[in-house]
Amino acid sequence: MTCSEFVELVTAYLEGDLDPDTEARFVEHMALCEGCERYLDQFRTTIDRLGALPEETLSEPARGTLLNAFRDWHAG
Ligand SMILES: [Zn+2]
Repeated sequence: MTCSEFVELVTAYLEGDLDPDTEARFVEHMALCEGCERYLDQFRTTIDRLGALPEETLSEPARGTLLNAFRDWHAG
């Protein structure tokens, strides 16, 4: 699994929508990739604050900002 795949699957993972095979690969990537682990942590924190998945409130620009921040982590 690549980092961009991971980012795409975060919402489905938190909703429990991944099939067992994909979830296993997702968890495996998280164990190996510090950037993605932090991304998931941030995502969870956001959800805790909102009390719901941010799907509805996360506009495309906000999503782009998150993905850019994510790339910066990897670049650093
Ligand atoms: Zn990653």
